[in-house]
Amino acid sequence: MYQDITWKDRPVSVLGLARSGLAAANWLAARGARVLVSDPKKAAELPVDKLHPSVELHPEGNFVREGDLVVISPGIKPSSAAWALAHAKGSEVISDIELFARLCPCPIAAVTGTDGKSTTVTLLHHLVEAWGRKAILAGNIGFAVMDKLDELDANSVAVLEISCFQLTHTPSIKPKVSVFTNIAEDHVEYHGSMAAYIEAKKILMQNQGPGDSVVINADDQELLSWQMPAGVQRRLYGTTRPWVTAGRCWVEGNAIWLDEGPGPEKLVGAEELQIIGGHNLMNAMSAAQGALSLGVDRETLRRGLRSFSGLEHRMEFVRELDGVRWYNDSKATNPHAAGAVLEALEGGLIVIAGGSEKGSDFGDLGRLIAARTKAAVLNGGTAQRIADAIPAGHPVHLVPTLGEAILKARELARPGDLVVLAPACASFDQFKDFEHRGRVFKDLVRAL
Ligand code: ADP
Repeated sequence: MYQDITWKDRPVSVLGLARSGLAAANWLAARGARVLVSDPKKAAELPVDKLHPSVELHPEGNFVREGDLVVISPGIKPSSAAWALAHAKGSEVISDIELFARLCPCPIAAVTGTDGKSTTVTLLHHLVEAWGRKAILAGNIGFAVMDKLDELDANSVAVLEISCFQLTHTPSIKPKVSVFTNIAEDHVEYHGSMAAYIEAKKILMQNQGPGDSVVINADDQELLSWQMPAGVQRRLYGTTRPWVTAGRCWVEGNAIWLDEGPGPEKLVGAEELQIIGGHNLMNAMSAAQGALSLGVDRETLRRGLRSFSGLEHRMEFVRELDGVRWYNDSKATNPHAAGAVLEALEGGLIVIAGGSEKGSDFGDLGRLIAARTKAAVLNGGTAQRIADAIPAGHPVHLVPTLGEAILKARELARPGDLVVLAPACASFDQFKDFEHRGRVFKDLVRAL
């Protein structure tokens, strides 16, 4: 759509100078666009040295030139002044993903959902590379799409993780394959309601049509109820055999099975995978379905599924100490994700949870903690709310910090037990982000 456009002297305002804004500003400036970037932070806190020299920077505020194309950061909330400013002054407001989608020369395979996105998208990228195709991995996974655009040609595949924040200003994305992992309560404070959150997710498939595929988790009643765009192929996967006859994938006898039409065949056994737990079988199936939609053959698929070693901060084994196994799942930043961790681990389990508040309901998690763990050690701003959600009588310990939680868990654990960090909350009360929290956890556990 944008492939033939001349950027020379085109005025563009970029709102927000984080990773995606920086990449978009630099890409546009390198093509001669007149780029203005603003950010509420002070210049000293911004990556000024990485910015293209022709970019005009306005720190300590939000600034949009009248009539500009606006590239808006996914971090800007609908209720904010920056959002209102962009829409009042800009000729059009788009995300960096939208800019990328309009310029991308190759098929896009995009993954969204509440949990499992990063694992699924990284595995999908691994499968496409195993197939021998050039592929980029970008989006919400920590690499800005506009930094990767120039690596692509018509034969490549752009494998993208897309968050709901990025979809809001992404009206024309048309993935060859869209993958929906699951929909659970998250980010309601951003969208205003669960219904609005769901509508934002649906944007990913709204332009898809004949020749395109939508991969759906059939265990998720919300996803299953979605009306598909006309002509797309819907591919289902789930913990039981989905009832449709073709393009389905399921778990049976601790293995992943596939039916592409002629009849069922076993794809891989769970023990052949390096990622563990029922939720990772779901992630493996969603990535496999995404890969099959792109045309990846079965043998490559089997090889790729077996050789994928997983991601840091997700069910990451840290160490064994005095017969106790310690795991880091700092990425479990909401109750649904933490619940998946508790379901996946078997044995005498001690969970370390709690963190900063984002308004989540801990009811289901509290019941799961009582059913699956021998004790919960809670820390951070949400500790009391989680404790209140755990049925009375279950051992619960409240401590101020993660460091103290580790010491408490060490005291409680007996040989054969497992201790897992599955916070169910964001990390901003004590840490920069979930990666920081996970690294601190690992360092402290290794130092025990
Ligand atoms: P996302 O990028 O969507 O946050 P990740 O793959 O990084 O997803 O996983 C985040 C956390 O969510 C993991 O640490 C794990 O606790 C949990 N999780 C992963 N996959 C699933 C899934 N399919 N269903 C539910 N929870 C999951």
